Amino acid sequence: MKYDTPQILKETVLKARKAQIKWQGLSIKTRGHYIGKLKTIIAERSDELIHIITETTGKSKIDALSTEILSTVIASRYYVKLAQRILKREKIRRSSILFFNKKSYVYHEPYGVIGIISPWNYPFAIPFHEIVPALLAGNAVILKPASRTSKVGTFMQSIFDETGIPENLFRVVYLPGEKAGNAFVNSGIDKLFFTGSTDTGRKLASLAAQNLLPLSCELGGNDAMIVLPDANIERAVHGALWAGLSNSGQSCGGVERIYVANSVYGKFKEKLIENAKKLRMGFPDDPSIEIGSLTTEQQKEKVSAQVEDAVFRGANILYKSSVYTGKNSLFYPVTILENVPPNAPAVTEETFGPVLVLEKVKNEEEAIYRANDSSLGLTASVWTSDRKKAFSLSRFLETGVVTVNDHLMSHGMPETPWGGSKGSGHSRTHGKWGFYEVTRIKVVVDEKLSWAKRDLWWYPYSDNLFKALKAVLFLFGGFKKPKPYSTGESRPVKSYVNSGFFAALWQLIKLFKRIF
Ligand code: NAD
Repeated sequence: MKYDTPQILKETVLKARKAQIKWQGLSIKTRGHYIGKLKTIIAERSDELIHIITETTGKSKIDALSTEILSTVIASRYYVKLAQRILKREKIRRSSILFFNKKSYVYHEPYGVIGIISPWNYPFAIPFHEIVPALLAGNAVILKPASRTSKVGTFMQSIFDETGIPENLFRVVYLPGEKAGNAFVNSGIDKLFFTGSTDTGRKLASLAAQNLLPLSCELGGNDAMIVLPDANIERAVHGALWAGLSNSGQSCGGVERIYVANSVYGKFKEKLIENAKKLRMGFPDDPSIEIGSLTTEQQKEKVSAQVEDAVFRGANILYKSSVYTGKNSLFYPVTILENVPPNAPAVTEETFGPVLVLEKVKNEEEAIYRANDSSLGLTASVWTSDRKKAFSLSRFLETGVVTVNDHLMSHGMPETPWGGSKGSGHSRTHGKWGFYEVTRIKVVVDEKLSWAKRDLWWYPYSDNLFKALKAVLFLFGGFKKPKPYSTGESRPVKSYVNSGFFAALWQLIKLFKRIF
């Protein structure tokens, strides 16, 4: 494919900046009017989009429709409404009487020009949840899609153009991954969003640090699913297969490891295999195909290497499906593994393929320990009929998202924050938290008594001011007298506090006289 150069990126940023200044001057309602058109355009052009997504990724038609298209139509409606509520000027409540004369407001200001580097696994939905809040908040956006899915980027450019938004406000640039980091960090953008692997995120963070460029990272996952003895096993099995295998397992928040309570392990395993056998693998032109191909050759190599390594270390293959052989060579069999040693990469690292690792656990403590025993922490799930227990266990899981009796789907809920902990990154997209990520917080503190001569604590300093401030300390600090302290050099300060609460209050009242 033909790539742009870093110089073109710089020029694109300059043009975007000019467009952004005018865009920021528009009301949120007007910006929302343009973005509001997106849902209709996406719905109208959904067949074209399904074709582009399935062709470039190999995912099934229903995965493309549900996780990429339907979810973004729902999100654009939601974000337009949310923006008007969230981006409003916020009044801040005063913390103490000392600030009786101040009124404070928070503004959510756009960064300016936001760069987005996005992955190939959800090439439409992932950048969409960043682009739309960023534009609504008054930013310009420059998107670099993954090279493998550059056609989705081109489609995005065309739908945003179709809304009639000002020229240069949203631009797609094409850069190879190895050049993109340097190019973006030195392009003049004001903030960078990166979604991709933890390794690339780490490299990008060190590059961004050179310019102190704000960076939001959404990185890899290695999600655990915990099945307790009282779980609805039928549901847990169907959930594990959908959340583990949709998009051929190439979901950052997909199920990778399943920890099942001893007492239901046999039943869960039997039903998991029985249902896995029913899944249809194939080319996505047939809507009833559940499992598509992997997206890249490197991904196929990585998945194969992890499975071979696990088997070499003693894992059992409980199930391996046959492989569809038509059209392309990127299909990988649905594979279920058991007895994988805890230090094998199939357990410790993200696999990102149609592979599930199944393990027995003795009790809830062991399940939590095993789930957390990973350097990644994107999402996790707890399957039980005891909702109270699920909520209490969810607090111990070191992830950004926990779903109860479900998994993965919350990425499709634009209202819930998405993001992880540990090596999965610490940023949040979606919901009001997504808007906070594309805006700088600015506080404006206003003096109500601008006719007043001075504030309480301004010059001149004096013994009286010192005493008055100590009185404030006494009143606000739990009515405790200061413990006697002397270095032997400083002159001891006489304390009003000997006379108690009313004396302190009187000092405070006298303090207010200073403003006149
Ligand atoms: P990747 O890191 O290889 O690439 C992601 C993007 O970064 C692509 O556009 C790529 O061209 C670009 N890139 C590659 N090297 C770069 C560099 N040195 N500097 C700057 N940009 C560079 O990841 P991938 O293989 O495309 O995507 C899969 C990974 O993304 C998985 O680890 C998955 O878990 C993760 N992911 C995370 C989330 C999340 O929300 N946390 C969502 C989707 C995918």
